[in-house]
Amino acid sequence: MKTSLRLLNAIGRASPRSQSTSFIGLGRMGHEMAYNLFSKQFAQANESEFVVCDAIPECAQSFRSNFMKQYPGAKINVANTPEEATLASQTIITMLPSSPQVLSVYNNGIIPILRKLPTDQTHNTLCVDCTTLDVDVARSVTKDVTETGSQMVDAPVSGGVTGAKAATLAFLVGGTIAAFKQAQPTLALMGQRIIHCGPSGAGLGAKICNNLVLGVQQIVVGEAMLLGIKLGLDPAVLSSVISSSTGNCWSISVNNPVPRALPEKSPPCERDYEGGFASALMLKDMGLASNVAAMAGCPIPLGQAAEALYAQMIEEQPELARKDFSSVYKFLQKTAEERKAVKLGVVSP
Ligand code: NAD
Repeated sequence: MKTSLRLLNAIGRASPRSQSTSFIGLGRMGHEMAYNLFSKQFAQANESEFVVCDAIPECAQSFRSNFMKQYPGAKINVANTPEEATLASQTIITMLPSSPQVLSVYNNGIIPILRKLPTDQTHNTLCVDCTTLDVDVARSVTKDVTETGSQMVDAPVSGGVTGAKAATLAFLVGGTIAAFKQAQPTLALMGQRIIHCGPSGAGLGAKICNNLVLGVQQIVVGEAMLLGIKLGLDPAVLSSVISSSTGNCWSISVNNPVPRALPEKSPPCERDYEGGFASALMLKDMGLASNVAAMAGCPIPLGQAAEALYAQMIEEQPELARKDFSSVYKFLQKTAEERKAVKLGVVSP
């Protein structure tokens, strides 16, 4: 993408970027994170300026008008492109779907502007990418950003939309100590735990390893619950036994996939698997684990089996792609019913 003459002219008068923060990517997570960040920054210093940007302009417009309703004095603008968002602010946060979008936003938007800014402005710029994406892509983007003189961290999150809304996210940060220290106060306005995992890419490495465990665990919990129910066990009794035994994990004691198995809690299965972590995102994260494991020469047979199962589920039941990934239980249930029908000779194999 070529930098327009208008933008190049604007570079000469690009101050005061120091008081401004740009947030690019106002989806399910980004919307909540930007809202917390801006409202807290506004409370700290009401001369702060905010810029929002999304590929769907209506998302940014509606964010702005909602924010203005609650904070009428706020200075909040919509940037039409990541270039404009970079010109406007010294702190740039991105929360995008995955590697292709991060490559596009940084290579076509943010980095070309950083290369053209006066040195003092480039040196004071911090890019924080909260997207869950490929480790090697994140490292190469960070290398290009730091070559301009700016700082960058990868800071993927754990905690989901609920954590984003409540500002209780965990940020898993990869980057230099200096970049981490620069990012920490901003991240603390959106989350509770800000963990420096190591150099560039380390935050993503930690996030991908965690989601590898989670993706496998949710499937085996679905398998155990389905098997137990077939053996005649009450789902609430079975959940209570496993939750207080060596099989305990988040997938059974919090994100249990069987309705009424956790009477005192309200996991996504109680809302037809709405409102959790989408199966399509879990499939993406299992793919990220496979990629990085192949690069590292590390066997992940269970991870690969889990990736194949989520892929099959989304192919056969596309309606489950946007539902919580615990809906893999529904897919296992459907498979069991199909097998039973074949066994009874109701349908041919
Ligand atoms: P989302 O799809 O809801 O939001 C992504 C946003 O980015 C959308 O608004 C989209 O329009 C925008 N976008 C896409 N391309 C763009 C571009 N080129 N320029 C500007 N904007 C662009 O996704 P989400 O659920 O908010 O997740 C974001 C990231 O956070 C993903 O990497 C996901 O894996 C990770 N994550 C999500 C959750 C969750 O529970 N949703 C939890 C932890 C981590």
